[in-house]
Amino acid sequence: MRVWPWIVGGGALAYAWARHRPEAGGRVPAFAGPLPGRWVWPVPRWNGRAPVISDGFDSPRPGLPRHGGVDLMFARQPADAFKAGTPNASKQFVMPDGLAALAASGGVIWSAMKTPHGYAVVVDHAPRKVTTFYTHLEKLLVPEVTPGKKGVTVSVGQPLGIIGASPLDAEHLKHLHFEIWLGGPNDRIDPAPLMRAWETVADPKALVARNASLVYRPVGSPGEAYPDWVRALKGKAGVYVIRDADSREIVYVGSSSTQLYATLTRHFQTWRRWKGFWRGQYGEGHDPGLTYDRDSVEVAVRLTSPSKSLDEEMRLIARLKPRDNVIGQVDAAEEPIPF
Ligand SMILES: [Zn+2]
Repeated sequence: MRVWPWIVGGGALAYAWARHRPEAGGRVPAFAGPLPGRWVWPVPRWNGRAPVISDGFDSPRPGLPRHGGVDLMFARQPADAFKAGTPNASKQFVMPDGLAALAASGGVIWSAMKTPHGYAVVVDHAPRKVTTFYTHLEKLLVPEVTPGKKGVTVSVGQPLGIIGASPLDAEHLKHLHFEIWLGGPNDRIDPAPLMRAWETVADPKALVARNASLVYRPVGSPGEAYPDWVRALKGKAGVYVIRDADSREIVYVGSSSTQLYATLTRHFQTWRRWKGFWRGQYGEGHDPGLTYDRDSVEVAVRLTSPSKSLDEEMRLIARLKPRDNVIGQVDAAEEPIPF
């Protein structure tokens, strides 16, 4: 991964971006941070394991410019089967196939295109004067955009592409190269000190395991297909917890003993609410018709056996005290829940 740095991909794109937004250019003094808004590591957890920086900012590269960003992989563990020297591993680090790179914060795609280093994405986080750059992707998960044409809006944690290796890298080692730009090509900053304060999120594509811990993930934007892990809830039993993505306030806890996918996703179907689709079909205080903007919430799911889903829902309501649930909020000692 040290063979070819950003100069062909990131350097050229950063330069084009700086010309596109000259007001944001110029040299930026030492940056103290933190960046405004919500930020997550652009590589999700993998099997519960948090990513690490496998090669840091400004690391020297013989005969080439210094490293303009950080490389992200996973620290090797003894049980890892990946052989060093394959696309999935070096001696110290590993990267599985098929893992998505995520938008580190919400923004607009400024470019998403093929470069000599693999597919690369630039996300403009305007009005914040900060831009992020992701490269060595083997596939895009957002529409292709040439620099300057207005791309789609992405939310924090949204998958941008599948992490691959740079075609110019002799080692052909899969990793995500990630940069933060405050202005133009001279204004790359070291992401590492900022990333220490960022959270890591679950792989948006990973399926939910029985009795999984509560891991909150975005569910995409209105009109998009739901992520695989949501679609995999079809016909399953379990509980779901909806929280506000910005404030992290828990807004709703629900469950289903047979139809977890349908029960969860109807919270994002505002038209059904508007038509009164669910009116009269459920007992008072157990209104499943509460709707939320997909863009602004995150969801955690725990699978259960069909007979345990309601118990687990009541337990989580008592523990998490969601804003919008009515039943289950009373002190059970004074007023027992009627089931
Ligand atoms: Zn790199």
